[in-house]
Amino acid sequence: MRKPKSTGKAETQPVSASIEVYESKNFRLQTDLSAAAANELLERLEKMIELVSRYYGQPNSQTIEMSVVDSRENWPVGSIPPEALPSIESGAGITLNATAFLQNALGEKQITRVKSVVWAVAERGVPQHEAVHAFCHQNFGRTGPTWYSEGMAELGKYWRDQNKGVQIDDEVMRYLQRTEPQSLDDITHSKHKTGDSWQNYAWRWVLCHLLSTNPNYAPRFKPLGLALLGGQPTQFDDVYGSMSKEISFEYLLFLKQIDQGYRCDLCAWDWKTKPMRLKGTSTTQVKVIANRGWQAAKVQLKQGDRVSFVATGDWSLQPNGPKIGPEGDEQQQGRLVGILFDDYELFEPFDLGKNGEYEAVRDGVLFVRCQDDWCQLADNSGTVTVKFQAVKPQPAKSK
Ligand SMILES: [Zn+2]
Repeated sequence: MRKPKSTGKAETQPVSASIEVYESKNFRLQTDLSAAAANELLERLEKMIELVSRYYGQPNSQTIEMSVVDSRENWPVGSIPPEALPSIESGAGITLNATAFLQNALGEKQITRVKSVVWAVAERGVPQHEAVHAFCHQNFGRTGPTWYSEGMAELGKYWRDQNKGVQIDDEVMRYLQRTEPQSLDDITHSKHKTGDSWQNYAWRWVLCHLLSTNPNYAPRFKPLGLALLGGQPTQFDDVYGSMSKEISFEYLLFLKQIDQGYRCDLCAWDWKTKPMRLKGTSTTQVKVIANRGWQAAKVQLKQGDRVSFVATGDWSLQPNGPKIGPEGDEQQQGRLVGILFDDYELFEPFDLGKNGEYEAVRDGVLFVRCQDDWCQLADNSGTVTVKFQAVKPQPAKSK
């Protein structure tokens, strides 16, 4: 971003020749990374902090000081402050915060300035993670409760420009796919502290990612964050208590389907559309969008109910890909499929296709979608219209 400056000028710590200082609009970076890598990191940090400032509606008020360690051997003894050393040696990072006070006329202490200094290893998005803490601390004076503070820092770490899909470390992905989910209560109420374990960070990330990207919860998430950063006496349950069953359902669904590229915004559950029981000759019609997850079919079923359906239209599973009808292709991709939802429980998906009859194996509300890999919905296009009608019960045979 800028040419490296000689380090002797600003820092009091003696540094070896391979450690240089780089500056950009919001950062001052001291590092032993190559100039190319340092500039690339600054560019990413700038983009991320711009997004974070826009999200919070708060421009960054002062330069964020970052020291990023690529190779420990390049840093002479004493160049890394003792408070930061354990984090650096364990391959992590830490944001050291200094608060300056001023006495007012009444002799009361008032915060005048909060300054954060970040120490981080160069790998795995650690500098980005710590930069979010530094931003929150410098601009709000606090970073919020652990689940929020660390969850948001993990969002920053994984943030990619123009990419709304899940993109996390493979090790974290495998852990989330194979482990019994931590409960929402455990994540938001536990006494767990910053720096506890990467596993706990993973659950915090899941919750913050879901709440910030799913349109059912995102509108309340930003005001909650601002309240927490503003030190207001509020918490997760105050804001989301009335939606706890819905959040819990979508949290578990997210974890069931999670993989790289998964889009919470496209798979948000439809809690609003009211289903109805089809009777007599009444029909209902629904438009199914190819790039979405399960969508309400507006049909309520009792066990044994039979409905006939006809699906028209076509969709495509990749940009400029072949058009596929609701019967699907040879691999059954693009086929219209259904699922029953009842009292926050989902049952086994089943096949529908272009037309036919479906008999409900249990009570439930019908949801439908275009069969495709859960993590590759975004590039789908097209819609299919499905018309449902009740099938008349067979008249009892008379002798
Ligand atoms: Zn952190």
